[in-house]
Amino acid sequence: MLTSVAAARRALPSVDRLLQSEAVGILIARYGRALVTEAIRDRLDSHRGELSDAPPGAIAPFDEHAFVDACACLLQVRTQPSLKPVFNLTGTVLHTNLGRAPMPKSAAEAVVQAMTHPVNLEFDLGGGARGERDSHVERWLTKLTGAEAAVVVNNNAAAVYLTLNTLALKKEVLVSRGELIEIGGAFRMPDIMARAGCKLHEAGTTNRTHLKDYTAAISARTAAIMKVHTSNYAIQGFTAAVPERELATLAHEHGLPFIVDLGSGMLVNLEDYGLPHEPTPREAMAHGADLVTFSGDKLLGGPQAGLIVGKKELIARIRKNPMKRALRVDKMTLGALEAVLRLYADPERLVQELPTLRLLTRPLADIEAQAQRVLPAMSAALGTRAEAGIIACSSQIGSGSLPVDSLPSAGIAVSAGAKRRGSFADRIAAAFRALPVPVIGRIKDGAFIMDLRCLEHEDEFVAQLAHLKIDEKPNHKGH
Ligand SMILES: *Cc1c(COP(=O)(O)O)cnc(C)c1O
Repeated sequence: MLTSVAAARRALPSVDRLLQSEAVGILIARYGRALVTEAIRDRLDSHRGELSDAPPGAIAPFDEHAFVDACACLLQVRTQPSLKPVFNLTGTVLHTNLGRAPMPKSAAEAVVQAMTHPVNLEFDLGGGARGERDSHVERWLTKLTGAEAAVVVNNNAAAVYLTLNTLALKKEVLVSRGELIEIGGAFRMPDIMARAGCKLHEAGTTNRTHLKDYTAAISARTAAIMKVHTSNYAIQGFTAAVPERELATLAHEHGLPFIVDLGSGMLVNLEDYGLPHEPTPREAMAHGADLVTFSGDKLLGGPQAGLIVGKKELIARIRKNPMKRALRVDKMTLGALEAVLRLYADPERLVQELPTLRLLTRPLADIEAQAQRVLPAMSAALGTRAEAGIIACSSQIGSGSLPVDSLPSAGIAVSAGAKRRGSFADRIAAAFRALPVPVIGRIKDGAFIMDLRCLEHEDEFVAQLAHLKIDEKPNHKGH
């Protein structure tokens, strides 16, 4: 035992001395000198603090082994990637907070190619001159939608912004009051319009808008008529909306462009896959839309992107807007998007190749069988601390698609059993989030629910259940 705190502090090795040690050398080889030096400094600081707080007589001599181990732990935590894979068992297939669409392998390969090699991003290999970056996907987008031309930007919010800013700067855009939606986060249609520099002119009422409402609202200040697909909610009951064909005719009679913001916008008819219908850009074009905007990472199942398709002349104007430069996508997005669009050229294989569609169309019997397979391992991992059981549940498509329809699914519910309640489900949820590959489920009626629709790596999921540690005591700090 050392007698005084001061003596114990004096006996601590210096940072330089520790950096010379063999064990620290291994850490330097792995993490680099800068991070290791920082970790040693921080651990020495906390060690000094612990010495000061120690009761007299309880001061142990410096243990270099333990100290280096603590540094190794600290470095491991500090260098872990912040962005990492999780299991999405929330029941929402396109979960915005979990990165929306998982991408097909061919898209991942295209991204790796684009990242690790110089590519002909804006280079015309035929003529050897400067090329147009959107051309790599434009040929597919026009083929799949029937549009004359296409532009790609960062996301659909940017697509709407750029379209309005190009066509209606300092002018009015006519929109039905029932379509002035908020799509979560900060995407409110009226705000985007204001930032795009145009004035919103509302037509009709929340539940009913008629053609005469639009006609009455048209003036010399009007620059466009817009229809917004009310993706994330459904107006039911006493409602009226004007069909796209009639709006297109009205717009064209007044020499105005007709814009449709589809939100999700699927490139194939989902009914062919046994799912509810979702409007397609091809349909909107056929109804007379001049421009259609939609997302790359909602039902389409590709990377985050905003796609604008439509008339050549209007697309050319959008492309010339200086803001296009600020909103353009990079080579990785274009690589992934091209690979995903390529899959749509083969609708028969699409359901196998495209993860979004594969997950959405997974047969219930398949999910139930998986639940049966996973349950024993789950019960074993929980031991006596909680009970697991198979439940029927319903999955959602998510990201504002098809709000009223949900898909029958199966899952595992973990609950405390009869004796415990209250925050126990929160603690179970925290334990699953703390697994090497965090498992994200949801809490319902005091139970932690995992919808298995999106469980594709079952072996990995089962194997890591051995690491499950449920905190027995209520955690007052939250997480
Ligand atoms: C989701 C959505 C948007 C925004 O699309 P992001 O790709 O998320 O930017 C815009 N309009 C509608 C109708 C939507 O559903």
